[in-house]
Amino acid sequence: MSKIDEDIARGGQGQVLDPETYRDSIGTMEQSGKRKWVFPKKPKGKYTNYRNLVSYILLVVYFAVPFIKINGNPFFLFNVIDREFFIAGQPFYPQDFFILTLGAIASLIFIIIFTIAFGRIFCGWICPQTIFMESVFRKIEYLIEGDRNKQMKLARQEWNTEKIWKRSLKWSIYVIISLIITHFMFMYIVGYEKVLNIISEGPFTHPTNFMVMILFTAAFYFVFAWFREQVCTLVCPYGRLQGVLIDKETINVFYDFKRGENRSKWRKGEDRKAEGKGDCIDCHQCVVVCPTGIDIRDGQQLECVNCTACIDACDEVMEKVGLPKGLVRYASEKEIETGAPYKFTGRMKGFALVLVLLVGFLGYLLSSRGEMEAKFIKPAGSTFFVKEGKIINTYNYTFLNKTNDKKIVTIKVIKPAHAEVGYSASSKITVERDKISKGTINISFPESEMNLSKQNITIGVYDMKGKLIDSYQTYFEGPFKLQF
Ligand code: SF4
Ligand code: SF4
Repeated sequence: MSKIDEDIARGGQGQVLDPETYRDSIGTMEQSGKRKWVFPKKPKGKYTNYRNLVSYILLVVYFAVPFIKINGNPFFLFNVIDREFFIAGQPFYPQDFFILTLGAIASLIFIIIFTIAFGRIFCGWICPQTIFMESVFRKIEYLIEGDRNKQMKLARQEWNTEKIWKRSLKWSIYVIISLIITHFMFMYIVGYEKVLNIISEGPFTHPTNFMVMILFTAAFYFVFAWFREQVCTLVCPYGRLQGVLIDKETINVFYDFKRGENRSKWRKGEDRKAEGKGDCIDCHQCVVVCPTGIDIRDGQQLECVNCTACIDACDEVMEKVGLPKGLVRYASEKEIETGAPYKFTGRMKGFALVLVLLVGFLGYLLSSRGEMEAKFIKPAGSTFFVKEGKIINTYNYTFLNKTNDKKIVTIKVIKPAHAEVGYSASSKITVERDKISKGTINISFPESEMNLSKQNITIGVYDMKGKLIDSYQTYFEGPFKLQF
């Protein structure tokens, strides 16, 4: 008997835990540590339709983004190997990493505030793990093995022809999809051209890349074919943070225990109110659809990814028995305890304002990034020389053009006055888009004006319209002067 069969024999998913002990263990694991395999019933309803729509849009985005170019630049590229980074078609360089760091901090604050106010909406609607698991792999499983009952029956039965071909077909398709996900993930890192090139040249030309691809394909296959909801309950750090981030005012998927209890089986024609019974007819439909194997009626649990499947399942039941929908719904614990209708509270307005400010801050960081980065460094070991009454210092310049356009620039000394640039070649320097330009300049200063042996100098880089693009402060050396 397989582990799955043993689990079904023990009751499997849908077994209602003792309300006093359900928080002592996770819903998909026995006290002994054995995995309880989850066979969620196929969800259907309003929220499932919306979630499907969101998933399909996000899947299209995931598979399309590597091919999108803006002004010849990739829309998004995170090439840590060659240190090439593009966000929204804009090149980022290691020098810009303070922006990315600030952006990452702002994003973290955004996530924390968003979670305090709106709970795990991200997990249910946007998280790639949920999107791929529920909208791709699970759907294939339903297609090949059927709904919950058929899957449980198949898991129980011997390895006959039906089970062998169904499982082989499912696992083969899983391998192919894992392979596709891996290839697209690498397109985000090295670009689609390089990935297509590696594919066309074959594994013998690129054995290392081939091995890495195989490893990641195996990892994705493991996650989606076997590990599944354990990623959310055991591995994901965001899931672990929930316990400290949510409070009684956080919006989450909730069971209205005030209205639902005392739960009791449905009896036709019965006056439940008069009998002291709540609206929950204890049908377990909210439990059997849950992909993380929990009972939402036990209250907020770390396993809940807010997938809304239990909302749809319960709404369908309520509709059938003629009771109002929303016994399981998006709500805050406080809202359910007090019975007050949902409203956009002052606290949520405050959080929303902070979120808007954070997005604005991120936008400002991106837009205020300079067009060009200029550096003027004195060559190692160089010193000054004096010619025709002028002290001359040499500088190596490096210009990094961060824009998508070619730049023609000129160099001028901003301060001190009287200092001048003496070009060795042309006064105009061309810096190609997304490229670095290097060269050498001399700066002269009248010997009669030099009162210190070393003084600060600010050098500016201007475009052809005379607009200052960037400036750099360094020092200028002259003959030793005694200072009193
Ligand atoms: S309890 Fe409901 S919302 Fe939470 S994971 Fe289970 S089905 Fe999804
Ligand atoms: S689906 Fe609704 S009525 Fe049925 S057990 Fe769950 S909460 Fe109760």
